[in-house]
Amino acid sequence: MTILNLFKIGIGPSSSHTVGPMIITKNFTTLIKEQNYFPKITRIKIELFGSLGSTGIGHQSDIAVLLGLIGEHPKTIDTNKIEELINDIKNTSTIKLLNEKTIKFSIKNDLILHQRKSLPFHPNGIKIAIYDSKEELFSKIYYSIGGGEVVSDDEINKSNTLENDEIVLPYNFSNAKELLNLCQENKLTIAQLILENEKAYRSEKETKESLLDIWKVMQTCVNNGLNSDGILPGGLNVPKRAYKIYQKLKDKRTIDPLAFVDWINLYALAVNEENASGKRVVTAPTNGAAGIIPAVLHYIIDFLLSKEDKEKVIIDFLLTAGAIGLLYQRNASISGADVGCQGEVGVACSMAAGAMAEFLGGTIKQIENAAEIAMEHNLGLTCDPIGGLVQIPCIERNAMASMKAVNAARMALNGNGIHYVSLDSVIKTMYQTGKDMQNKYKETSKGGLAVHYVEC
Ligand code: SF4
Repeated sequence: MTILNLFKIGIGPSSSHTVGPMIITKNFTTLIKEQNYFPKITRIKIELFGSLGSTGIGHQSDIAVLLGLIGEHPKTIDTNKIEELINDIKNTSTIKLLNEKTIKFSIKNDLILHQRKSLPFHPNGIKIAIYDSKEELFSKIYYSIGGGEVVSDDEINKSNTLENDEIVLPYNFSNAKELLNLCQENKLTIAQLILENEKAYRSEKETKESLLDIWKVMQTCVNNGLNSDGILPGGLNVPKRAYKIYQKLKDKRTIDPLAFVDWINLYALAVNEENASGKRVVTAPTNGAAGIIPAVLHYIIDFLLSKEDKEKVIIDFLLTAGAIGLLYQRNASISGADVGCQGEVGVACSMAAGAMAEFLGGTIKQIENAAEIAMEHNLGLTCDPIGGLVQIPCIERNAMASMKAVNAARMALNGNGIHYVSLDSVIKTMYQTGKDMQNKYKETSKGGLAVHYVEC
């Protein structure tokens, strides 16, 4: 229930397929070191299941798991060194676990991407096993459940059997209705209430500093994207667009009355092109949908601020967006492999819409309405990335959803907060729609655009 789990600093192209798998293999290797397996181990085998198996190459899951094994973490890895680190493993046919224990490693035999097998709990499953010269010593199953969050099989079993030992929050809510009631009863804004809850995890100062750090990484990501030209990696030969649009826009800020559309699109394109290039991004709440929240917030900061306290605007925006994200995480899913793109781009759009409504001075009911409108018009959105790459439709889709978030906020602000479909209903509907969706539309690249695209 902490919003900092929704905004994680990591690398592209995917939170569930790159960030999560890297964390999993790093966690596993740390565990076997602690359990003193290092002296005995002669082989390690990693198997990727479900969506990780079918789209793992395009999402660089294969690279991510290797980086985790050698001790790298998505938050700290130097993205310019990734190629060198991977080439070292390939060229020597060895791997240095946690940069400490060297064993033989064959990418062909020890890293298996299953195309048709899945594990029971979630579509993104990973099994890791270690061996000595005779037999298996130890194995463990993990799942990457979206937004860079990971769980192991034993954690799932534990949470099913133990008494509730969660942190006690000052304002506990499980859905939007309860959140709104708590805000009203205690005369708090959504941002204020979430900030109080975050004190259960860390001091107010630390939460605010973390949110400002997240914003800094978002800004660097946008700047890098605006100043980086060329072709995206992966073989689809998709040209980057942000750089060229930025060259056209930057000198004529006020001339074109529709230029605001271009600016919002531009910020989103910049982030998602960085993501597709495997560079540093913030999950918001996932990597595939990482452009929407920064795009809307950049537009606010660069064009709409007048006398407001800039840091407060940033913190309140992220707190409000985070509150909405928590509702989806708790009551539905933020994983494209689980519920399709409505769970990634749809959720980010809903978070950004609510936060934009908050910035525009909306009441808590209008904020809830904005978040609801944004998701209502993303229902059914499938996940069908061409070639398993987070490029088409993902990059452009973030730009479209950023504009949709602004539109949803404006529509909500023009109403009085009373509306037919509640945010809770739309979250429930999104989850059910995701469950009803055929697997080929859930990050497998076996349906939709992924199969109807014909190379020219
Ligand atoms: S289509 Fe949506 S859910 Fe699928 S990879 Fe792209 S952004 Fe993520």
